[in-house]
Amino acid sequence: MNIEEKINQLRDELRQHNYKYYALDTPEISDYDFDKKLKELQELEEKHPEFYDANSPSLRVGGMVTKNFETVKHDTRMYSLANSYSQEDLEDWEKRIKKLVEGEVEYVCELKYDGASISLTYENGELVRAITRGDGTQGDDVTHNVRTIRSVPLKLKGDFPEKFDIRGEIVLPYAGFAQMNAARVEDGEEPYSNPRNTASGSLKLQDSSEVARRPLECLLYTIVGENLDISTQFESLEKAREWGFKVPEAAKLVESTSKTLDFIKYWDTHRHDLPYETDGVVIKVNSFEQQTELGFTAKAPRWAMAYKFKAEQVSTLLKKITYQVGRTGAITPVANLKAVQLAGTVVKRASLHNADQIEKLDIREGDTVFVEKGGEIIPKIIGVDFEKRDPNSEPTEYRKTCPECETELVRTEGEAIHYCPNALGCPPQIIGRIQHFISRRAMDIEGLGGETVALLVKNDLIHNYADLYELKKEQVLPLERMAEKSAENLINGIKASKNVPFERVLFGLGIRYVGETVAKKLAKHYKNIDALAAAGEEELVAVDEIGERIAESVVSFFAQEKSLEIINRLKDYGLQLEIDPELLENQSETLAGKTFVVSGVFEMSRTDLKKLIEDNGGKVSGSISSKTSYVVAGENMGPAKLSKAESLGISIISEADLLGMV
Ligand code: AMP
Ligand code: ZN
Repeated sequence: MNIEEKINQLRDELRQHNYKYYALDTPEISDYDFDKKLKELQELEEKHPEFYDANSPSLRVGGMVTKNFETVKHDTRMYSLANSYSQEDLEDWEKRIKKLVEGEVEYVCELKYDGASISLTYENGELVRAITRGDGTQGDDVTHNVRTIRSVPLKLKGDFPEKFDIRGEIVLPYAGFAQMNAARVEDGEEPYSNPRNTASGSLKLQDSSEVARRPLECLLYTIVGENLDISTQFESLEKAREWGFKVPEAAKLVESTSKTLDFIKYWDTHRHDLPYETDGVVIKVNSFEQQTELGFTAKAPRWAMAYKFKAEQVSTLLKKITYQVGRTGAITPVANLKAVQLAGTVVKRASLHNADQIEKLDIREGDTVFVEKGGEIIPKIIGVDFEKRDPNSEPTEYRKTCPECETELVRTEGEAIHYCPNALGCPPQIIGRIQHFISRRAMDIEGLGGETVALLVKNDLIHNYADLYELKKEQVLPLERMAEKSAENLINGIKASKNVPFERVLFGLGIRYVGETVAKKLAKHYKNIDALAAAGEEELVAVDEIGERIAESVVSFFAQEKSLEIINRLKDYGLQLEIDPELLENQSETLAGKTFVVSGVFEMSRTDLKKLIEDNGGKVSGSISSKTSYVVAGENMGPAKLSKAESLGISIISEADLLGMV
């Protein structure tokens, strides 16, 4: 065997392995053996440049640098596809087809791969050109880059036509995308926002060795050319596979639209199992003869139809960033979007969370952004399409004043959220605060809802929650949708709320960070509002489970003249501003600082037992750890718990022991 023969033999072998590995996903030799052969070939090629071959498998690693991609006309235009979104759309399409062609119609269902379209030209079985779709008539010559994609055969096998174009989609599978991003993050770079854009961006990289490092794949779906000796779409997919192209096996030949719907249904749920992104299904008339009969519209073939899955991620224009004020004065930046269909609904707004988020993603007005609907109800913006950014755009400057009352916003050191500090004068805060006060977990005022509160405020009837207790039936009667009976219920509901226990009133006051649990803790510890109002930060922090953030907020609430004035009014109206003395009767602090684990069956119910511990200042925990002070053991205590308690040296006490302690 001479050198040239040896080189060609190695190239053939490597090509075969490449095909098995990248097109069929069934590798035959180890990566190590593959690399050994590749190295051997590279050495021979280096010594013998006279046998250079642009399609040698050794050139997959790239190295060609393209400064300007040449614009090349497509021999055959690359059309777009008509879109459908429902069963009806598809049935209409089938009806139109039946009118235009003779005889039975068969369809091929394929997946719609979401990446960058590409047209590959082969002559005498060799890749000669790869052109992006561009505007459909002409695109960019990205041959050097495409050569590095392992699933694009550089030399074909079998019985291929002399010259043809084959079209497909270059995709970046999820796994490779994740790997690329992990590497970027490690290098301190921003991760890429989605596989599709990264795939299309990759094709335009100047250095093909950079492209070679990206785990791109090329999935093929259409052959065009003359004298192909193929008569159907399905046959062309099978042929392409034989010649060495990667054609996903999902493609299916069916005889009616009802079968098409089964295909759609199946892949709508199973597409997440695929290694790459798909955004729908493409249905094509199988017979080329019928395809010719049907022809094209100005934009798309009449013989093909895309069915779009309900998008879970879309891109759209961010028109404007506005700011919302919440009940506690927290500012939420909101993205106002150009309306876009997302997962079955029209999306116009998305939350931007906070200033950090805007800065991190570098979101700006006028950007094209990616919007995603995850588990949350409100869609979120997950990234910016930087390719579409206007070069003149400027970084977002976060709003400095409240959009409702123009008070200067504040942001506490170390916190992500901005607040409007004008708690008592800022309209949404006024309404929000009262709505919180009347809510079910707080005062639970029957006959009064959030909308009525807004109405009452807008009609100047109330300005804070204390004003509720001055409301007269005659005042509310003229309000929208208010009748004699409902007005009466409202007034009675307000009156009845005077019996709501202190801890819920405290929660209802809407002190920032004082949630239900904290309110309970504070009510129990301080017993009445005056004691709480008099507490300093240090004293508050000393209370179990009260942190600095809460302490600071409580102190600043009671430091406000207006707060005290309102509280005094609430007292006058007869609201519960101290803990029910009856509740206090069986309470003590004897178990303060002690943690109990309760296990087994007892005389009294477990709930009562736990309440007994808590009423006396103890804490109940679910699992035994070194922090546990006592394990209260009942009958049938779990052996695992018992041995754990013993091994940690924790005292095990009985129900009677516990009762003795209190
Ligand atoms: P659109 O971008 O929505 O106009 O859809 C048309 C594009 O879908 C084509 O340009 C192809 O790049 C792409 N596509 C993905 N999968 C297929 C497929 N199986 N058959 C035809 N086109 C496909
Ligand atoms: Zn404000």
